[in-house]
Amino acid sequence: MKTVLIKDLKDYEGKDVQLRGWVYNTRKVGKIWFVILRDGTGLLQGVVVKGESSDESFDLKQKLNQEDSIIINGCVKKEDRSVGGYELSVKDIQVVQHVSDEFPISPKEHGTDFLMSNRHLWLRSKRQNAIMRIRHQTARAIRDFFDMNSFTLIDSPIFTGNAVEGTTTLFEVDYFERSAYLTQSGQLYQEAGATAFGRTYCFGPTFRAEKSKTRRHLTEFWMAEPEMAYVELEENMVWAENLICYVIDHILKICDDELNTLDRDTVLLKAVKPPFPKITYDEAVEIIENSGKKFNYGTDFGAPDETLISQNFEKPIMIHNWPSDIKAFYMKRNKNNNDLALGFDMIAPEGYGEIIGGGQREDDLDILIDRIRHHDLPLEPFKWYLDLRKYGSVPHSGFGLGLERTVAWICGTRHIRETIPFPRTMSRLEP
Ligand code: ATP
Ligand code: MN
Repeated sequence: MKTVLIKDLKDYEGKDVQLRGWVYNTRKVGKIWFVILRDGTGLLQGVVVKGESSDESFDLKQKLNQEDSIIINGCVKKEDRSVGGYELSVKDIQVVQHVSDEFPISPKEHGTDFLMSNRHLWLRSKRQNAIMRIRHQTARAIRDFFDMNSFTLIDSPIFTGNAVEGTTTLFEVDYFERSAYLTQSGQLYQEAGATAFGRTYCFGPTFRAEKSKTRRHLTEFWMAEPEMAYVELEENMVWAENLICYVIDHILKICDDELNTLDRDTVLLKAVKPPFPKITYDEAVEIIENSGKKFNYGTDFGAPDETLISQNFEKPIMIHNWPSDIKAFYMKRNKNNNDLALGFDMIAPEGYGEIIGGGQREDDLDILIDRIRHHDLPLEPFKWYLDLRKYGSVPHSGFGLGLERTVAWICGTRHIRETIPFPRTMSRLEP
């Protein structure tokens, strides 16, 4: 008998098939009983009727527990009232393992801390399944977008030798007789990549010893970082916008069921089409002040500020031309105003905050050396980086897209800890 996945049942109507999975639930109605099977790809209701199922199988009535692993054989029937639109007339159930302890996560309400401590089991739930599938499809769309647009994947290292932007948010590790740091961003290496390949990206975990315990910060998160030679701020923002549109479009096409499971209202996701509003830092400050809130000009926007700004727009917005004092040393300055840096942030709608940070990089050797000195950073570790400005330096730009924040926005989850399989925060290292 053919073993099939629940998600593929529509191709097997009227056929006998085998399904392998776990008991999600059971219920008894008069003389028949139902088993809801979960196989990771969906849920299926199996109908067990005396005489149609083997006697041993029928006698399992009220003996199956949540998460018992079972293999079922039966015939696929169309049934609109059933989960997934199909149902199985069960012929035989084979119990692979009977669970004798009660599964810790029952359909009743549990606190998030309890669920997080049982993350390895919580991942089996319907909601977590939907979020992880959307995460998978988001990552896939990000890769597809770059691959289709002639970007070469250049993996940045995770161990780095130098603390390039200060050590406050770096994780230091023993590295033989010296210290190494876990990467905070693969950008500098992508700059080397872009001069070698034109367009490159990396997509992997990054680490920040964030002491803040906000719902938007993890200590380990995934970032997609493209870098492009011969690209300036304007075009950089268009790449970011196109990437986001591609991702959202893909999710809306592929993840209908998952978005439904999450009860996600997709009206605003459907409105994600280019062009996105692009405003300067000054204009963003004006929006905040016009709303009656005081703002300290020259500082970064906090989460409430971002929410305030984004409330004025339905689509993601981009804020560009930032005070250079709060931006990294490598950011290029506006040629008409040296106090402004050619950076941009993309803020997701609906209060989900910054999902992308990026900008145009300084490409002039002398200016960059000046900046490094001005930031009190040692020159030696940047020798290789400065080489990129010595040999065929060109205008170039890039950005970093945070995967978890993007998934949180798409799924409509307030806290990003549910958007990564095993979240790492200040207080959580297990499971
Ligand atoms: P924030 O100001 O919100 O802390 P940032 O400006 O430090 O973020 P960038 O250095 O610009 O972040 O990183 C690029 C992207 O990586 C951000 O736009 C965000 O999507 C994501 N990101 C940054 N820090 C974290 C974190 N601690 N946890 C999850 N995602 C993060
Ligand atoms: Mn940023």
